[in-house]
Parts: sequence; structure tokens; C-alpha cells
Amino acid sequence: MKVKTEHKLKPCPFCGGQAITQEMHYSMLQSENFVKCVNCGAESSRYYDDMHSAIKAWNRRVNDNSRKCCICGKHINSQTDKIFEERR
Ligand SMILES: [Zn+2]
Repeated sequence: MKVKTEHKLKPCPFCGGQAITQEMHYSMLQSENFVKCVNCGAESSRYYDDMHSAIKAWNRRVNDNSRKCCICGKHINSQTDKIFEERR
């Protein structure tokens, strides 16, 4: 039996840096999850109720948007927004 439930985060699509999960708690019932790059500070533009969705979105973004950009260029941001829009 595998007990490993670690989420696999792909490296940052912008700089290739390490991505981490972030969880924000606003109240007992409210929390938001997103993924952030520790290197350039890029983060998923939307927050998710559960970490699973946030990670899926992040990894998806890496797949869809793997072209090079040094430190989160603006033109990538607009594409990122589009990708996240499609997920709604
Ligand atoms: Zn980065």
C-alpha cells in the first residue's frame, strides 16, 4: 500500500524555479489554496477551495505554457489568465 500522497508540483513555467503550495485561512470555513514560485514569485492567478485544484491548474499551466520567459513577462500573464478562464 502506498501512503504517499505528496502532490507533485511541476517547476515554475516562467523561470523553472521551485513551486510551493500556499494555503490561506480566513476563517474556520474559508480557506484558499494556490501555488507559488519561490524564485520569481509567480502564482496561480486564481485561488481554489482545495489544494488539488490549485495544483492541477498549476501543472496544467506548465504544460500549456512552457515557453521561456525570464521572470514572469507580462505577455505570459495574459495567456495565463486565458488558461485559467477556460477552467471555470
Ligand atoms: Zn518562477
